[in-house]
Amino acid sequence: MNKALVLEQEDKKTLAAVRELTPDELPEGDVLVSIEYSSLNYKDGLAVTGIGKIVHQFPMVPGVDFAGRVAESSNPAYQVGDSVVLTGWSVGERYWGGYAQQMRVKSEWLVPLAEGLTSQQAMVIGTAGLTSMLCVMRLQESGLKPEDGPVLVTGATGGVGSLAVALLAKNGYEVVAVSGKADSHDYLKQLGAKEVLSRAEFEEKARPLDKSRWAGAVDTVGGDVLAKVLSQMHYNGRVAAVGLAGSAMLNTTVMPFILRGVDLLGVDSVMIPYERRVQAWQRIAKELPQEIMTQVVEEVSLEQVPEHAKNIIEGKVRGRVLVNPNL
Ligand code: NAP
Repeated sequence: MNKALVLEQEDKKTLAAVRELTPDELPEGDVLVSIEYSSLNYKDGLAVTGIGKIVHQFPMVPGVDFAGRVAESSNPAYQVGDSVVLTGWSVGERYWGGYAQQMRVKSEWLVPLAEGLTSQQAMVIGTAGLTSMLCVMRLQESGLKPEDGPVLVTGATGGVGSLAVALLAKNGYEVVAVSGKADSHDYLKQLGAKEVLSRAEFEEKARPLDKSRWAGAVDTVGGDVLAKVLSQMHYNGRVAAVGLAGSAMLNTTVMPFILRGVDLLGVDSVMIPYERRVQAWQRIAKELPQEIMTQVVEEVSLEQVPEHAKNIIEGKVRGRVLVNPNL
């Protein structure tokens, strides 16, 4: 038995239904994984509802990340029973993903589950957590130290933003969070933010250079917010640009770069090499506070995914939604 959520297209509409997959239908790959958990990300919402047009080949099994155990392997690096995690590589968009009881994948897409984590915790963290750790690593590798000054995180209540707040605080940085949600202050302070600022303040048109306020920043929003952040960086400040929740556009000037030596650091989680993935997961397992990993999560079945996919697109989801294909 291998139950999966399968997307088909009819009259340009995406239809999602749970059905059995036969072994012959599974894609090529050298490792078959019995999936214990997948998670629901914004990208999955776009795929399952069809709103995002991110799936170009049907049928498609969505689910951009998953954790589980190896069921079959022709790669000696993976033995039956090993716990593994997959994020990125366009899985769930171009290649079949995690909303199934079993999936066959390329072993180079997998990493061993980091010691100290369960597969459930790995999916509470998911792509968002991995990405936030990559932002912290980028900033630290560029030389940012806690004593340099405050670090700003935009889109702070989002998946990437909230875990970036927690990881930066855990690494000793003074974190200032930016959020559009007026009722999020207590939540962000519990995660480790020292101060919370309103998003509206960052949506005003940026001057080429503004008062110098931040030694570092993680920006998940892009657009006018990123332009404003750049204009407020300290001399030699560093900004990790990771998202486009506000806009993919960036209307700025060269002034922060040529007069303050600001570094704009790009962060990608999809195509990063194996060694860096392993390193990031190991750091997450050590550094992410336990209370965040055990935070309230909703567990849903494959049948419930379409309803929750609609909710995540409409911004109605709070916390993490885990998909358990064995429910
Ligand atoms: P998310 O959970 O939807 O969070 C995005 C946050 O941004 C929201 O919680 C909100 O925070 C803020 N926001 C939402 N709409 C906005 C708007 N129109 N203008 C300004 N702020 C807005 O998403 P996520 O999973 O954290 O991902 C954040 C971004 O990173 C997305 O653009 C995603 O595509 C990108 N991402 C990139 C990678 C990569 O590899 N580079 C990996 C994962 C995600 P507040 O209400 O607190 O302001």
